[in-house]
Amino acid sequence: MDFRFTPEQEAAREEYDAFFDEVMKEAPENWLGTLEDVYSTKEGNDFHRRVARMLGEKGWLTMVWPKEYGGQEATRVAQLIFLESMGEHGAPGYDTQGVGMLAPTLIRHASEEIKREFLPPIARGEVTVCQAWSEPNAGSDLAALTTRAVEDGDDFVLNGQKTWTSGAHFADFMYVIARTNPEELRHRGLSYFVLNMKETPGLTIRPVLSMDGHHLWDEVFFDDARIPKRNLVGEKNRGWYVVLSGMEHERSSLGGWVIECNQHLKKLVQFCQETNRGSEPLAKKPLVRHRLAQMAIEIEVGRSLQYRLAMLADQGALPMHEASAAKLYASELYTRFSETVMEILGLYGAVTHGSKWAPFLGTFEFLYQMAPGWELAAGSTEVQKNVIAQWGLEFPRPY
Ligand SMILES: Cc1cc2nc3c(=O)[nH]c(=O)nc-3n(C[C@H](O)[C@H](O)[C@H](O)COP(=O)(O)OP(=O)(O)OC[C@H]3O[C@@H](n4cnc5c(N)ncnc54)[C@H](O)[C@@H]3O)c2cc1C
Repeated sequence: MDFRFTPEQEAAREEYDAFFDEVMKEAPENWLGTLEDVYSTKEGNDFHRRVARMLGEKGWLTMVWPKEYGGQEATRVAQLIFLESMGEHGAPGYDTQGVGMLAPTLIRHASEEIKREFLPPIARGEVTVCQAWSEPNAGSDLAALTTRAVEDGDDFVLNGQKTWTSGAHFADFMYVIARTNPEELRHRGLSYFVLNMKETPGLTIRPVLSMDGHHLWDEVFFDDARIPKRNLVGEKNRGWYVVLSGMEHERSSLGGWVIECNQHLKKLVQFCQETNRGSEPLAKKPLVRHRLAQMAIEIEVGRSLQYRLAMLADQGALPMHEASAAKLYASELYTRFSETVMEILGLYGAVTHGSKWAPFLGTFEFLYQMAPGWELAAGSTEVQKNVIAQWGLEFPRPY
């Protein structure tokens, strides 16, 4: 196996790095390069949108799309190189839900009319997208969802509640899974819809605050919300199969956590070289050296899993259990990394964003509080292990 990048790939990385070096000079003050920046303030969200439009103009949001929809049919490896550069700079602009999840799902399953309506604004970086799948009683067991969609004339009428909808308060488009046939149990009888939130009556968005008080998530209520029938993606009552292909895209696009850790590791290494504890720099303390060396190894493993996924996808595979393994590893790495940083920074590490005493502007306090959430989001660790056992090890279904 050849782990080297080609000269073209190295040149592309340099181009992205130079672009993001410039763009990040315009970032709002105290930008941390986390999800909090994009979802919890209007200023941060505006910056995200500004950068998204620049990326759209360069064609960097649509690298892997088919040419007929404005893409370049680049490889997933090429895209990952771009995403690594973006992540290394803590830059926003790539909407994982829109570009990473909804777009490939529409390209694969939607009617031509829906593709023509929803893909161009995503490609131009003009919109952000949210995912309304989870419900108060349907998370890991998503097929237990109860939101109903009933046909009425030219529309489907939706009633029910979703929760944990990331970034719904800033989003323009939403993709939803709802029950269209209540006679059928579980995953049968579900359908997948896409909608323009600005044109959909009967939607109510309410904040779900994180444990440190930030507004990144929402609950969404559908009260006789009307969606045109043409917004059905895939076949009626067969939405579960659309969801499954979307899950692979979601789990494959979570490499950002590894890149985030890598970006922070570099800052931390510098900090440990420049900061004394007692009479010597942190970098001389065996425990600190070993913990950071361990993190450097684990980050490389995480990167390798991401590149493996990208290569499998480039070979035409739909990597299900491989995507679960990469997601599980990345989210657990994020936890181990944030715990390591907290140990190194000591009590100051827990000082929040906005305080003059917060090292790194409070970035690591945010990381530490987010870490348990990432082990749940996009399918919990236990659920990923179930997928790996069943599809990777070919064990029988657990139930
Ligand atoms: C940060 C964050 C962002 C999110 N963003 C979105 C979003 O944008 N859109 C959206 O639709 N949803 C979103 N979610 C919801 C997410 O998909 C669910 O939290 C997740 O699927 C788990 O569901 P749950 O919270 O209901 O937990 P539960 O399903 O109740 O799980 C509770 C615990 O039981 C374990 N468990 C459950 N089933 C099994 C099993 N079969 N075997 C072994 N253990 C099991 C789980 O691993 C977990 O530890 C987000 C969640 C988080 C934390």
